[in-house]
Amino acid sequence: MIQRLETTRLQTTLDNSVWVEGFGFWSSCAVRVEFRPAPANTGIVFVRRDLPSQPRIPARVEYRIDSPLRTTLREGMASVEMVEHLLAALSGLQIDNCEVWVDAAEMPGLDGSSQEIVQALGSTSRVTLDARQPRLIITRRVRVGNQDSWIEALPGPGPGLFVRGHIDYGPLGPIGRQTCELEITPQSFSQDLAPARTFILKEEGDMLRSQDLATRVTTADLLVFDDQGLIDNQLRFPDECVRHKILDVIGDFSLAACDISGQLVAHCSGHRLNAELVCSLLKEFIVERHYQRSA
Ligand SMILES: [Zn+2]
Repeated sequence: MIQRLETTRLQTTLDNSVWVEGFGFWSSCAVRVEFRPAPANTGIVFVRRDLPSQPRIPARVEYRIDSPLRTTLREGMASVEMVEHLLAALSGLQIDNCEVWVDAAEMPGLDGSSQEIVQALGSTSRVTLDARQPRLIITRRVRVGNQDSWIEALPGPGPGLFVRGHIDYGPLGPIGRQTCELEITPQSFSQDLAPARTFILKEEGDMLRSQDLATRVTTADLLVFDDQGLIDNQLRFPDECVRHKILDVIGDFSLAACDISGQLVAHCSGHRLNAELVCSLLKEFIVERHYQRSA
């Protein structure tokens, strides 16, 4: 028990507000996102400043609704979409309390990664708060999905969060099969995951455009692959695609709103399966909460 107490950490927030702006990949709408400091035990809360009464939407899995290829949160009539890369940055940097003020529903796509958000958040210092971050410890295996697409949680090799991702686009395609494994720390997140951009196959992109979606996005804004390879772009890592999938896992698991101690193994999983496992973990395991700073 003593060892467990030693490995929980104090909550943090930002010293000052920082912001990013861009346009939503799906909606093409301009959006400005301001990250503001928040008191202990606030968690991450979105505020739709553009709507009457400025509704608040907590970044917790119970506010998640299903939407294709992205993570959406809704409270009443107010929603925020494509929140996963933004939440991954906050979670990866261990920023536990933050009000995210936005003036549109969809978060900016930026360069398809979390890099610009990590840079913005890194431009102000971290404030340590007088409360411990709740933590969920995975003590046995829990798995969701089917044979082709699954994600599981296991006890980890250390007190932190370890993630292994695997994607399989067949042996011959330009993406191929990729595996990446790492312990998530603010440093590893910033260096090894935050720059990894989202990716799409050209035929998927063409289909979206035919539905009048993603009309502002170009091949410079994310990774677009056709049969021959990557179009008009350079990879930042040889295995950038699977790194991005792990980034998505970090964003989706931040909806547990606590630290997770254990290992996640994701095999071709997507946002829906990730959220399903978050719900299972919150049902199966007790979240340790320390309401006062330990003596
Ligand atoms: Zn993503």
